[in-house]
Amino acid sequence: MAGLIAHAREWITTGCRASLLMPQIRAMCGGRSPKWPALRRKILLRHPTCEACGGIRDLEVHHICPVHIDRSRELDPRNCIVLCMESLQEDHWFVGHRGHSWSDWNPTVRADAAKCLLRREFLEDSD
Ligand SMILES: [Zn+2]
Ligand SMILES: [Zn+2]
Repeated sequence: MAGLIAHAREWITTGCRASLLMPQIRAMCGGRSPKWPALRRKILLRHPTCEACGGIRDLEVHHICPVHIDRSRELDPRNCIVLCMESLQEDHWFVGHRGHSWSDWNPTVRADAAKCLLRREFLEDSD
């Protein structure tokens, strides 16, 4: 998690100006594709657990490269990862968006989620 916090700090100092522009960019891009709900359901059926904790509650399909950055990857399953919004962990928020802003994103989300999962499984085993 220290790596994530460092990432978030770095983003806060270097990315503020870019994140101020996000609402405008999002407005320019418009909403989600009408095909998104069906793909989202399919991904959740195929992968019904959070990739960062293995949990099954409050799952969300997160875009690794956000739609407001690259609209062409909205319906690319390889650009999607399942993360939870469980009240205490909020992996979608902390791992997917680095706990900073919904317009921020974590380019290494897959590796970070895998690391979180390994650590949590290890902690559970050592109980
Ligand atoms: Zn989770
Ligand atoms: Zn997300």
